[in-house]
Parts: sequence; structure tokens; C-alpha cells
Amino acid sequence: MATINQNYLKLPGSYLFSEIARRTAAYQEEHPDVKLIKMGIGDVTRPLAPAVIDAMHQAVDDMAHAETFHGYGPEQGYAFLREAIVAGDFASRGVDIAPDEVFVSDGAKSDTGNIGDILGFDNRIAVCDPVYPVYVDTNAMAGRAGYYDESVQAWSNIHYMPTTAENGFCPALPEDGDEVDVIYLCSPNNPTGTVLNFDQLKAWVDYANAHDALIMFDAAYERFITEEGVPHSIYEVPGAKTCAIEFRSFSKTAGFTGARCGYTVVPKDLVRQGTHLNDLWLRRQTTKFNGASYIIQRGAAAIYTPEGKQQVEDTIAYYRHNAHVVKEGLEAAGFAVFGAVNSPYIWFKTPEGTGSWEFFDALLTRAHVITTPGAGFGPSGEGYIRLTAFGDADATVEAVERIKKLAAEGAF
Ligand code: PLP
Repeated sequence: MATINQNYLKLPGSYLFSEIARRTAAYQEEHPDVKLIKMGIGDVTRPLAPAVIDAMHQAVDDMAHAETFHGYGPEQGYAFLREAIVAGDFASRGVDIAPDEVFVSDGAKSDTGNIGDILGFDNRIAVCDPVYPVYVDTNAMAGRAGYYDESVQAWSNIHYMPTTAENGFCPALPEDGDEVDVIYLCSPNNPTGTVLNFDQLKAWVDYANAHDALIMFDAAYERFITEEGVPHSIYEVPGAKTCAIEFRSFSKTAGFTGARCGYTVVPKDLVRQGTHLNDLWLRRQTTKFNGASYIIQRGAAAIYTPEGKQQVEDTIAYYRHNAHVVKEGLEAAGFAVFGAVNSPYIWFKTPEGTGSWEFFDALLTRAHVITTPGAGFGPSGEGYIRLTAFGDADATVEAVERIKKLAAEGAF
């Protein structure tokens, strides 16, 4: 008799975005003439950069001729892309990463989810709360999370680290006797839009090295960093190469949410139980992954050309401007606002005593703006709302004006 992975049965339903969609659809059905503005889901809206499109067109032409046709590529990614990544994302910031430490993939969701394949089942996992749900759910699927306790909306074996306004959105190091083995950190963070500065990241690197722990560093939103003193890569912190794996994505930085491409860095110096994790990840990838498409990798490499870089920067500037407009507008309306400065996410506090789903409903039905309730990202997200800056600039201005007007009328 075939059996199934029982851990899947322990997973709570993916409630957040389906519930948002359900409430939105119900409201729109009752009010068909209302123009709703979507600021909930973190998907980009601007087209790919012209340099990327040109490179992809050229790559399609390559595929049309026997002399330039590409079949299976190297599982780790083409050298032309890995070399461009090393020069453009690391050497340019004084960080020494070798091309064979870079693994190109179809995105950071796959890699942050799949990395658990090379880890023992008895690792104690630490995540920030609120959190990007993939880190938690993939560990639950592997049986590392224990059981899900509906009453506290948390897994019994996961160590949750609240990151809220009260602690400056910096997760506290575990106390003595409460050690953790694998720590997921995301900076700039989804959903709070906040960042970890050099000293905060260094404290975690030192902890991980001292305890032979591992940091899974998700830098999917790196390109949005504007402030000095905020590391773009964890490898800017001395000692990180012996304790950290870094995940990058072209999704939010260059509009690849639909095209699909990202990469993961596993340093050669990273060793646990006498084994190089780079060798393990290579073994995993060569067995289970056949590489990202040649056409897409050519497109991704174009991001690192001078014109590609400028075009991508222009798109990021567009989203950054939206984030700025939202932050300023909400602050003017009297809300406590976080994120936005180094991130496409704006995280703000609901009015005193109003739950995040309750305020989601208020914004939907009165401002006609679709948001994401913070509680959907974990218990410590209660009392917050996430907005994204990925929308159309005019629609973003309109959404902010609607919220400001209602706040001025005392509607909230
Ligand atoms: N990591 C974080 C923190 C994200 O928010 C997302 C997407 O929303 C991803 C990874 C996934 O990125 P990708 O599109 O490369 O799979």
C-alpha cells in the first residue's frame, strides 16, 4: 500500500490570499460599479526592461539554428550568468564570491523551499513573526515543525521570533538553553518592509558561528535598499561565509515574477558535520533540477549590462516613488508607518483596538483599496496592514488620497 507524507495533512489551509480574494469578490459583486485598487499581492506590474527583452529575443533566435541551439544546460546555471552575478552583485560591493558558489534557479521560492532537502530532520528552525510563509510551510512538510496549534496559530517545534515596532523589527537572539539550528532571516523583509543593519546582522552571524547554526538569508528585495549601513548581502558581514546561505531573486528587482529566475549562493567555506554544503546542494540540484531556461538566463544576464542596469534602476525608482507616496500619505493621515524606505512594502499599524482583518474590511468597503492583513503572516502581524508599491503610480496616489480623506473625516 502506498502511503503519503502525513506532514501535508497537518498544514492549515492557505487561508490568507484566498480569504482576501473571497471578501473582495463578494464586495465587488454587491458593488459592481466600485473601482477597487489592488495593493495587496506582492506582484510587479511594470514590463521587463528593453535590454532583457532584446536578449531574450536574441536567445530565441539562437534556439532556431543548429549552430547556436542550446539543449540541456548546466544544472548550476550558464557561466555567462554566474560570472555576471559575481561581478555585478558581489565584486561590485567588495564581496568575494566565486562563480561555482552561485546556483541559478527558477526563483527564490523554489530554493528557499528546496534547501531543506539537504538538512537533517531534527534541526530546530527559527523564523521571524510575521514571516514569508514558505519558510514555515516547507519545514512543516518535511516534518520539522511539529503540530499546528490553531489556538495560537503556531507550530509546536518552530521557534518564532516576534519582529514588531516594539523591538525595532529586529529578532532577538535565542536565550541560553533555547538554541536554534537554522535561522531564516529576510532583509529587506517581507512583509514588514524593514531591514537589518550591519550590527544586527553581525550579531546573528556571530551567533550562528558560535553555535554551528545556519542562516538562510533571503535577499529577494535587495535592490530596494536605499540607506547606507544596510548590507545588500549577508557576505558583507565578516564570518558569514561559514554560516550562511543567501537567496536572491530577479522577480522583484527586475520584473521576473512571470519569467522566473533567481539564484542561491552556497559558499565553499560552509561546512557542517564535516560536509561541504556546496557539494550537497550541487548533488541535490543535479539530481532534481535541470536548470533554468537558456532564454531566461540570457534575459537575466542583460540586467547586468550598462543599459539593462539603468533600465532596471528606472523601474525600481518607479516603485520606490510609489512607496514614498504611500508612506508620506499614511503618515499625514496619522498612521504609524514602517518599511517603504528600503522596500516595496509599507507596513502600518491599524487604529488602536482594530484587528487587521477588521481594518482590511474597512479599507475595502470604504476606501475601496485591497490590502493584506498583517495577521495573515503570523500572530505578531496582528494589528498591522501590508501595502505594496508595485501598482500603477496614478492608482497608488488615488488610493492614498482616498485613505487620507476618510481619515480626515474620522472614518477610522
Ligand atoms: N522570498 C521572499 C521574501 C518573497 O517575498 C518572495 C516572493 O514574494 C520570494 C522569496 C519568491 O521569489 P521568486 O519569485 O523568486 O520565487
